[in-house]
Order: sequence, then C-alpha cells, then structure tokens
Amino acid sequence: MSVNSVKLARYSIGLGDRFAQEAEAQLRACIEMAERGVEVIPVWNKSNREHLTVGSEPASVRAAAEAAIRKAGWNKPWHVDADHIRLDTVDRYIPHCDFFTIDVADAIGKPAPVEVVRRFGDRHPELIGQLTIPGVEPGLAVTRQQVEHIAGKYLAAVQEAGRIYRHIAAAKGAGRFITEVSMDETAEAQTPLELLVILAALADEGVPLQTIAPKFTGRFNKGVDYVGDLRRFEQEFNVALAVIAFAVRQYGLPDNLKLSIHSGSDKFSLFPVMARALRRHNAGLHLKTAGTTWLEELIGLAETGGEGLALAREIYAEALEHVDELCAPYASVIDIDRSKLPAAQVVAQWSGAQFAAAVRHDPTCPNFNPHVRQLLHVAYKIAAKKGDQFLALVRSRNGSISRNVTFNLLERHLKPLFLGNGIGVGSGH
Ligand SMILES: [Zn+2]
Repeated sequence: MSVNSVKLARYSIGLGDRFAQEAEAQLRACIEMAERGVEVIPVWNKSNREHLTVGSEPASVRAAAEAAIRKAGWNKPWHVDADHIRLDTVDRYIPHCDFFTIDVADAIGKPAPVEVVRRFGDRHPELIGQLTIPGVEPGLAVTRQQVEHIAGKYLAAVQEAGRIYRHIAAAKGAGRFITEVSMDETAEAQTPLELLVILAALADEGVPLQTIAPKFTGRFNKGVDYVGDLRRFEQEFNVALAVIAFAVRQYGLPDNLKLSIHSGSDKFSLFPVMARALRRHNAGLHLKTAGTTWLEELIGLAETGGEGLALAREIYAEALEHVDELCAPYASVIDIDRSKLPAAQVVAQWSGAQFAAAVRHDPTCPNFNPHVRQLLHVAYKIAAKKGDQFLALVRSRNGSISRNVTFNLLERHLKPLFLGNGIGVGSGH
C-alpha cells in the first residue's frame, strides 16, 4: 500500500463550525489537552449539506482554521476534512482539504457483478474456514458462500470508494491527503466479518484509508447522548478495534488505520466505554463531532442577555414555525417529541440563564430539554438567513461564546474520552 506522507495522529477530533467563527475557541481545547500531555489533533470538517445550507465555500473552513492556528502558534498538525463527499461533490473541496471522507453508503447493497464477486472469493482463500482474530472470541467460522454474499453487498461501494480516491489522488498526488471511508449513514450495523471483508476489498482496491466509519448499533442522534444497548455497543466497538488491527497486518493497510465515530458529539455514555477499549487495544480514534458548536453560540448569546437573548428567542420561534422543513434532511439522526417543545410565547419569557439551561447539554440539569436542543441544532439555516445580523452579534459576544465552546469540547468530550476523566456529564459552569 502506498506510503502516506500526510499521516493522521493517534487521537484526533473532528470539529464542526457552521459559521466559521469558533476555530480559535475549539483549538483552545486541543491546546489545553496538549498542556496535559495528550496530543489531540484538530480536524475541521464541514459536509456538503452544511455548506449548501449556510451558503459557504470550502475555502472558508481552511481560512478560519488557518487564522486560528497562526494566532495560537499551534505547531502540531491540523487538517481540513471534506466530510461525506461523493464523486459529484468532491471537486470544489480538492484545493482546500487534506482529509477526505469518502461516503459510499448509497452504493452499499448495489449488487456487484457475479464475476467480480467470484474473483474476490478466489483471491481471498484466507477469509474462508476457521478464522482466528486476536480479540474476537470465539473465532469466526466462515464459508465461501458467506464471503461471496458479503462481497456482493459491498464490492460496488468499495469500487466507488476506489474511483473517488483515485480522482482525488490524481488532483492532489497520492499520499498527500488523509482518506476516510464512511459507511455510517446506513440502516444496519456491519458485522465483524463484513468489516473484515470491506477492509480486504479496500486494500485490493488500493485505497490507503487511515480512518473508517462503520455503522454501530444504536442511535447516534445529533447533539444528544447515545440511545441504545451499551453492552452491545461495547462488544461491537472492541471487536471492530480487533478486526482493524488484524486487517492492518493481514492486508498491509496503513498502520495508523483507526475508527472514526460520526455524530460523536455528546455521546457521554459511550466515552468511558470507548476510553476503556482504546486502552485495552492500544488503539487510536477519530471522534467526529456534529457541528454542535453552533449551539454553544446560541448559549453564549442567550447568557449575555439583551440583544443576544432576543435573537436566540427569535431563532427558536422561527425554528418552531419551520419545524417540518428543518427536520426533514435530518430525519434519521434526530428524535424530537414535539409535545415537549415549549411555545414561542413561553420561550419569549425565558431569562438568558433559562434559555442556556434548556439548550446546554447537562443531563443532570432539570431544565435541560433535549427536544429544544435538537430542534435548534438543525435550525442553523435560520441563523444563516439572518446573515450579518447574526454574525455581528456572535462576534460582539465572543467572550461568553468562546468560553462555552472550549468548555464543551474540553470538559465534556476530550477529557472523558482521552484522559478518562473530566467533569463529564454532570456539570454546568
Ligand atoms: Zn457521518
């Protein structure tokens, strides 16, 4: 497999910043981790969906990140991720990104030609029979029929990943960017054998992936905690780490290949589970957060009262009016109980502290409202429409906002995940 000269570090965090105002406050969380002796590399990511909603260009993500890096004097690596791109959307990202998340979820299940599937089976006798994978107990008993069935389901997606990878490599040069392959936006979690077959096929296809985002069991809703079977997740996560380590040795994939967890923000109940597993397997992780920094902007605005609070209430009122339209693109990754959304007139009476408490993700706070939080999470389109009015207020309330942005990343995410401690879920400030 080709050597990657741009190599992703062991621990990294994907940072969303919808309006490109908070890179400095986000970077601060990484700086504080570095001061504690743990290097977590920042990766700014923005999906095509976000760019279209906000009306922004990929160049703006790099520009905002670069400004923050320069100002802070950050001398470790940093990256810009073209998140969830496909062949038809990748081109405008190519000059501005050095990390590409190739999304092939749509191609999963497209039947691969019988001949291609048979050739895969011929090429991989090592996948058939009794497989011993350290960390996967008991081993897997695999038939050729099973391997071909899985190959039939995933090879079209893998070939598509290869096409997109080669398209980017032709423009940027092989080894000069980080490749992620994402399959998280699918209905069902992949089995360990499926993951192994996918990795073998990606190696065949010459895709030097450094991160992979499989689908795990349970719901990874945007901006709220994990909903699902924690024990089952723990088992799947540990097995995935074992399968990846095995595939790296078996197929010569990049030795820093690691998992990428999408919609990783706010998965408080998973962080201790993941921290334990990473230690056990001596593995790295990329935690891709979901653009919830924008919610910290709203919290910061509300907390400063006056015009900031008025705008936060106004955005809520408009979000409520457009709830169907705002939720539609995110239907599979949010769960809002509309009966729990207070009327606009009620929110219009809230103090800044009440507004902040409803939105801030502190599950132990009786005023926290996950339905309000999820609605506002998908309501950034409304702020985008307000344009300069919103941006000017955000800039003028920078102190309050950046404090919230840094605290959220550092205390609720990075410390619990990579230091195994932190103030965790039960803290406001
Ligand atoms: Zn994703």
